[in-house]
Amino acid sequence: MFDALLIEKSEAGQSARLTRLDTAQLPEGEVLVDIAWSTLNYKDALAITGTSPVVRAFPMVPGIDFAGVVAESSSPAFKPGDRVVLNGWGVGETHWGGLSGRARVKADWLVALPAGISTRQAMAIGTAGYTAMLCVMALERHGLTPGDGEIVVTGAAGGVGSVAVSLLAGLGFRVAAVTGRAAEHGYLTELGAATIIDRAELSAPSRPLARERWSGGIDVAGGPVLANVLAATRYRGIVAACGLAAGMDLPTTVAPFILRGVTLAGIDSVMCPKAERAQAWQRLARDLDRTKLERMVTELPLTEVLAVAPALLEGKVRGRLVVPIAPD
Ligand code: NAP
Repeated sequence: MFDALLIEKSEAGQSARLTRLDTAQLPEGEVLVDIAWSTLNYKDALAITGTSPVVRAFPMVPGIDFAGVVAESSSPAFKPGDRVVLNGWGVGETHWGGLSGRARVKADWLVALPAGISTRQAMAIGTAGYTAMLCVMALERHGLTPGDGEIVVTGAAGGVGSVAVSLLAGLGFRVAAVTGRAAEHGYLTELGAATIIDRAELSAPSRPLARERWSGGIDVAGGPVLANVLAATRYRGIVAACGLAAGMDLPTTVAPFILRGVTLAGIDSVMCPKAERAQAWQRLARDLDRTKLERMVTELPLTEVLAVAPALLEGKVRGRLVVPIAPD
């Protein structure tokens, strides 16, 4: 038996609780994993609180990612003792997830953890950090180099934003960090931000075009924030959009695209092909400063996850929340 969170639905609505589960209750899959560390991501908080319909089947163990050690495997790709990480593929949405002592999943969904990266570090990075890396890789594929000018990162004190700021600064880019929290200016400067921008500056309705400020951007916000970033992106720049912390809508015009040749790159981590995931994890192992990563981390016991989920959605959590399950 092991501890797990469980989301259930009844006529009264959705509810979540901490419970005990047995391995025999886990869904089918080729690989059984003893989870060492999990995390609380924005999407997990949406699932736990029922704020949006993330969970597609009930009952559901939430947790869109985990890192751990293979306990049993019927796939030649993994053997007991292998260290693995999982992000997405509908885990925690349609298949029981990582806020649990154990998970049974498809072998294809697992990535072997690169040497030199611990299971705790893997979850300090988590889906937020892996998505930040996918965003950075999209900027690089477009050809952006540090010499092209400053890159803007929105939601900078959050999970994706913190890792994005740190990665970009480490790669030599000048970073403008957008935050709504004055108290986090020092934290963002420590991660490598050269400029801090008040979120309010980008939250008003956007004009079609504004003064060209940034060669590129990583946006977790959507809504008017993304519209303002697009309007101020330089000729032939690129913005990687991955989130909706400010809203699902995008109140912009075609002006940035047809008059400045700006590219809007959509980033999805959930169904991202395996080869690109493995590349992202190799890059994270190589390029992410571990000391800065440690500054982003707060440990959150599984017993406190349900209570903290609403604060994450309110943008009150700094950096990354890691959940010790069976730390190795
Ligand atoms: P997080 O840790 O909660 O960070 C979100 C940050 O956004 C907050 O810390 C806050 O940063 C900022 N924010 C909050 N409300 C805002 C508003 N109204 N306007 C502008 N900024 C606002 O969440 P996360 O894990 O980084 O995830 C961020 C977003 O990316 C979420 O929407 C999540 O669903 C999405 N995401 C998508 C993928 C994908 O595959 N596409 C993967 C991971 C995450 P400041 O206080 O610094 O302003």
